[in-house]
Amino acid sequence: MATKTPYQRFIKNLKDAMEVLKLSPMEKKLLLEPQHNLKKSLSIKRDDGKNASFPAFRIQYNNARGPYKGGIRYHPEADEDEVKALAALMAVKTAVVGIPFGGAKGGIQCDPKTLSARELQELSRAYVRAFKEHLGPDIDIPAPDVNTTPAIMAWMRDEYEKLTRSYAPAMITGKPLSYDGSRGRDTATARGGFFILQELIEGEALDSKNLRVVVQGFGNAGATMANLLHGAGYTVVAVSDSHGGIYSEDGIDPVSIEKYKKKTGSVTGQYCKGSVCDTEKMKLDRVRQVSNEQLLELPCDILVPAALDNVITGKNASKIKAKIILELANGPTTPEADDILQKRKIKVIPDVLANAGGVTVSYFEWTQGRSGEQWTDDQVDRDLKRVILTAYKDVRREVHRRKIPYRQAAFILGVKRIVEAMRVRGWVSNG
Ligand code: GLU
Repeated sequence: MATKTPYQRFIKNLKDAMEVLKLSPMEKKLLLEPQHNLKKSLSIKRDDGKNASFPAFRIQYNNARGPYKGGIRYHPEADEDEVKALAALMAVKTAVVGIPFGGAKGGIQCDPKTLSARELQELSRAYVRAFKEHLGPDIDIPAPDVNTTPAIMAWMRDEYEKLTRSYAPAMITGKPLSYDGSRGRDTATARGGFFILQELIEGEALDSKNLRVVVQGFGNAGATMANLLHGAGYTVVAVSDSHGGIYSEDGIDPVSIEKYKKKTGSVTGQYCKGSVCDTEKMKLDRVRQVSNEQLLELPCDILVPAALDNVITGKNASKIKAKIILELANGPTTPEADDILQKRKIKVIPDVLANAGGVTVSYFEWTQGRSGEQWTDDQVDRDLKRVILTAYKDVRREVHRRKIPYRQAAFILGVKRIVEAMRVRGWVSNG
């Protein structure tokens, strides 16, 4: 099957795992489609007084292991198929790290860059009004994803509490610290990936000082990862955002990039205004402008896709120079690319493991919301490290035992755990 859409790509990986696990026809049927596909149209009044409506989704893939869990993304390309794939990936992810959640995802098809703060708040509140019956601390717990922030989580919680006349800090995660958020949630996705990478390179007796890294995407996950890597002695040779990237063989300083990104809106802001760049200054600093496509093919040891899906494909997989790919984004690598990368012996640490730090600290936030406790930074960091490295070792064991790539091993482990839960619940007969 040629995999053209995000959900088809998920199904390809799911089917491979289901084959190995020898699932029954009933078990397969339950995993091939989400339990609930919720779709609404959200209407808001724009600042110019006109009405506008936006398609919105909440897709609940599976809750055998616990309440549905997963972020909400705001993006012009967020459609039903993409949100479906992301919801399914969440279920595999929560199972891989062994936290008591199922998987869901939400999306609003919009371009948040064109919305004012007031419009953004209106839209976020409209989302909660539209799906309120399907959300709740024991039902389905949203969180941030692409283009959604702690401030948006706060509006959503506020709307939910007003509608339900309740106090519900555990109905959503990724909230601001001042509104029952958890310490360490903002850096959790990158930190989880970083712990795995450190373990991996130690296992291969490599030294971070000799390793060059390329990071695609400079949102929360990508920027934090670039900083962590730089701080640990790796040479970050290139970073990018949706406008493009910059590359320097000598390494770049993510802290100064972040400063300029805040000021100018782009990682190339230090050198370029729109498409016009100060080439003299770039030459002097030994820096070069690259496109997002070129960035993926740069000479480096580790590639960290931390932006959107479908960027490493059958077209460019043979040109990737990295030896390790750590997926902080969801779904960046297609099955066609996976086949090529496997033949080339490039290690891919898959999204369902590499970026699971985010939902893991969301779990800590949820438990804090339910108990009223407040964890310290150390507590969060220690438990995140424990959970993520346990998952990494579980997956690695499957890799070595079955001589398969990490993605396949992670899917086998995750799907097995979901099916076990479906069996004990009596959704499917045992065996
Ligand atoms: N959006 C993040 C992810 O894809 C976090 C989800 C969550 O914390 O529930 O894993």
